[in-house]
Amino acid sequence: MAAHRFQDHVVLITGGANASGIGAVTASLFLAEGAKVFIADLEERDIASYLGSKNVGFCKCDVSSPEECEAAVQACVEIHGRIDILFHNAGMLCPPAHVPNQDVGVFQKVLLTNLGGLFYLSKVVIPYMQKQGKGSIIATASTSGLSGAMSISPYAASKAAVINLVQTIALDHAKDGIRVNAVAPGLIDTPMTAGFSQMPALRDDMLSNIPMGRAGKPEEVGKAVLFLASEDASFITGHVLRVDGGTSADCSGSP
Ligand code: NAD
Repeated sequence: MAAHRFQDHVVLITGGANASGIGAVTASLFLAEGAKVFIADLEERDIASYLGSKNVGFCKCDVSSPEECEAAVQACVEIHGRIDILFHNAGMLCPPAHVPNQDVGVFQKVLLTNLGGLFYLSKVVIPYMQKQGKGSIIATASTSGLSGAMSISPYAASKAAVINLVQTIALDHAKDGIRVNAVAPGLIDTPMTAGFSQMPALRDDMLSNIPMGRAGKPEEVGKAVLFLASEDASFITGHVLRVDGGTSADCSGSP
């Protein structure tokens, strides 16, 4: 039964501190299906209280640090005893600018957070999953990682690299029973994109590029994550699941 798809599965989620962000909303979907969740985030919040569950652990973690990623995985295993699913969802945007005006420090931080986090966490999580003979890793990429994306080169390049890393780890560990996939959201209403509502012209322009004519909801990404993590996706690995209202289906370049 769907309600028990993740009974007693342990899920480590990075980037779940915002109650209305993709990470926390996905955490609540996993909890509703029986999972135990451990959240690692830069921001310290009382996650258990807003998720309303005892089956939630939390540690403060900067995923751009290999040491903090290792500590987060170990804390998750200490609390819950194992780790079945890694959802690397923590991410940061960059200010809009062309390359000459992008800050080198921002470029490095975005790369280390979005891409480095996936590498560092996978490095520690995979040996646990190999011992278990099974595991699922899912990363939050972005439609901006599928092609160029104007004025956000550090972010778009980091998400493109996330997709490549997902596919490479999927190839390397398919025989270990570890499936590795990505979701590629388009515009989703979360704290990360809340600022766009102060820029109606930009938001209208973004909406006009979405065939379904609206932004997505975090739970629409979360449901795709749960599908990829579940036995329903048992023969799916190295896949990038677009959750974008049809945006990336249109490659015609026509207005
Ligand atoms: P969000 O701001 O709610 O989530 C990002 C989370 O990552 C926050 O909780 C933040 O504290 C955490 N974080 C940032 N840097 C971190 C670090 N170094 N270490 C640990 N945690 C860190 O916004 P969201 O939209 O829910 O973003 C979740 C993911 O979805 C991100 O990877 C983002 O790039 C991706 N995404 C979002 C959209 C969108 O339109 N909202 C579209 C495509 C992809």
